[in-house]
Amino acid sequence: KYSQEQSADTGFKYTRVKSSKYKGSREKATFVTLVRNRDLYSLAESIKSVEDRFNSKFNYDWVFLNDEEFTTEFINVTTALVSGNTKYGVIPQEHWSFPSWIDQDKAAQVRKEMREKKVIYGDSISYRHMCRFESGFFYKHPIMNDYDWYWRVEPDIKLHCDINYDVFKFMKENNKKYAFAISIKEYEATIPTLWETTRNFMKLHPELLHQNNMLDFVSDDEGLSYNLCHFWSNFEIASLDLWRSEGYSAYFDYLDQAGGFFYERWGDAPVHSIGASLFLDRSEIHHFGDIGYYHVPFHSCPIDTGIRLGSRCDCDPSKDFTWHSYSCTNKFYDLNKLNKPVGWQNHVG
Ligand code: GDP
Ligand code: MN
Repeated sequence: KYSQEQSADTGFKYTRVKSSKYKGSREKATFVTLVRNRDLYSLAESIKSVEDRFNSKFNYDWVFLNDEEFTTEFINVTTALVSGNTKYGVIPQEHWSFPSWIDQDKAAQVRKEMREKKVIYGDSISYRHMCRFESGFFYKHPIMNDYDWYWRVEPDIKLHCDINYDVFKFMKENNKKYAFAISIKEYEATIPTLWETTRNFMKLHPELLHQNNMLDFVSDDEGLSYNLCHFWSNFEIASLDLWRSEGYSAYFDYLDQAGGFFYERWGDAPVHSIGASLFLDRSEIHHFGDIGYYHVPFHSCPIDTGIRLGSRCDCDPSKDFTWHSYSCTNKFYDLNKLNKPVGWQNHVG
């Protein structure tokens, strides 16, 4: 039932194996959650929701990653809640620390300024490590080598509707590589030079951009400036190949060298979103409009009554953020000429 491995090059892995009830075929896919031990019970509710709405039907694995060792209590409670195998990994130190080229005094000065300006998480060191890890390292953890697809879950989230089909199969069969539930605009104060750095990268490596990319989702002026639109990365269903690709790898390394994860407070959401928009075929990006989802403070709630009743959604459609004017999902539908649900105009806020 238990297996444990520890070595210098693979890091730490601890697995609890379950015999799966689901006998159909599954994709090489897993849930993945970065979490601290103290957030166990906020996460427990997220897992319960995801299991009840989706995973109890398919029994996919769940990977937990932490910058410290997980406690036995954490492992016992999460293993009891998940219907698939559970795997626990400690993050290698070089994926959760200041790179050698970062000027510590400069980084500290920035945190002080951001604290004074009350930029959200602006004074936090751990939040920066988290954003850098989610941007460039989670898919490099040895546990993730077992998988092609992942679904990211955070503490305190909720699924509002039943999902009665295998979303990973859906991604594969429909040639999707990145999927989101909610999109929104970033706080400019956290990313003053992210776009300038991205532009420099694009000039240096035009050959790495996809010819049918979705630059127009993140820029309204053909690349001159960033419009702050991003997919909210606390929910992601995506292909690990996207992040492991030559283009995104080179992009992340370039951003990391520039230092903005520490000299500013670059979030993994804009970094992933710009990455997906530049390196994928635009048709490979998908909005899950049928997955009701909540992460404080926004809900996505299908406004189509047929979907809502058919999927046993428990959300209030008048709280839906999808079609709100602060969301970028409307733009996503317009640019890609997708059909919007009837009545979306009544939800712009
Ligand atoms: P927010 O959604 O931007 O407000 O940020 P969260 O506090 O939800 O953090 C984002 C994700 O990173 C969540 O899955 C957290 O559990 C995780 N996380 C944040 N900080 C840390 C940390 O210091 N250590 C670990 N292990 N996980 C963290
Ligand atoms: Mn969160």
